[in-house]
Amino acid sequence: MDPRGLHRFLFEGLPVRGAFVRLTSGWQEALRRRATVGAFAEPVRILLGEMAAAGVLMHSSIKFDGALILQIHGDGPLKLAVAEVKSDLSFRATAKVVGEVSINDRLGALANVGGMGRCAITLDARTRATGVQPYQGVVPLHGDQRESLDDFSAVIEHYMLQSEQLDTRMLLAANDEVAAGLLLQRMPSTGLGNLAAGRDEDLIGAHEDFNRLSLLASTLSRTELLTLDVDTLLHRLFWEEKLQRFEVLPTRFSCSCARSRVQQMLQGLGRVELEEILAEQNQVEIGCEFCGQQYRFDAVDVEEMFIPALLQLPPTSTLQ
Ligand SMILES: [Zn+2]
Repeated sequence: MDPRGLHRFLFEGLPVRGAFVRLTSGWQEALRRRATVGAFAEPVRILLGEMAAAGVLMHSSIKFDGALILQIHGDGPLKLAVAEVKSDLSFRATAKVVGEVSINDRLGALANVGGMGRCAITLDARTRATGVQPYQGVVPLHGDQRESLDDFSAVIEHYMLQSEQLDTRMLLAANDEVAAGLLLQRMPSTGLGNLAAGRDEDLIGAHEDFNRLSLLASTLSRTELLTLDVDTLLHRLFWEEKLQRFEVLPTRFSCSCARSRVQQMLQGLGRVELEEILAEQNQVEIGCEFCGQQYRFDAVDVEEMFIPALLQLPPTSTLQ
């Protein structure tokens, strides 16, 4: 079986589902492209890899046509970290770092120095009508006792429990070659057959099977998560369980940036500001923060941006 991509599985007879993801070439491409406009410090690269893996795991567990966006708004040197995953499980990630990052910094030191860091989870539907706000949930970067969370996976577990009332166990790890993650989730007991089981909320944190599987998953080391292929990993953890593997989905790096959108953003800056940049640098150059793609606009391009739409000739193709 293809060791790359996303693997989904069920525990036969138990209300628990799981997913395992290994981002390899796509993740390496994301880092390589980003390096062309400035590489991030290692702790930031690790966090972004974990966020990308988490985003793929989360998107694969919901039926949703659109982008799932994980955003950390930090109060430390990391001001912003973004991972975006589309329905086809293509992903991209970037960050904004202001200040020094030390080699051993984890989430708390990066983004929750004053306890104000938070993580937003956004579901932006592909067919969203203009004016309609996308769904967004926000969780702090600390736990119930206000303890700072150093693992991004704990932030997501917290979010899933709070907003979806779903017991979730997530393990994440990343380096410059691999971004990997394992997700276990207790499925909500809906339907007539489960009425006898009582209210679903009563089961949170108290479901024996889920707790047992979650405990087994916790024995996985970071190194194992990064290096083991899916078969070895699932066998090592759950060899006594009846696992049903049912889906393998490809993942890849993909950036949706476009010259037209960069142009819109520049138009928003205004003509005066652009002409000042032109006077200094002869062109306006913008690099995509996600993929490193350079967009260049010379004096003629800038001039054209501000011609009223009515005066612009349609493209030649429409004249034929
Ligand atoms: Zn891009």
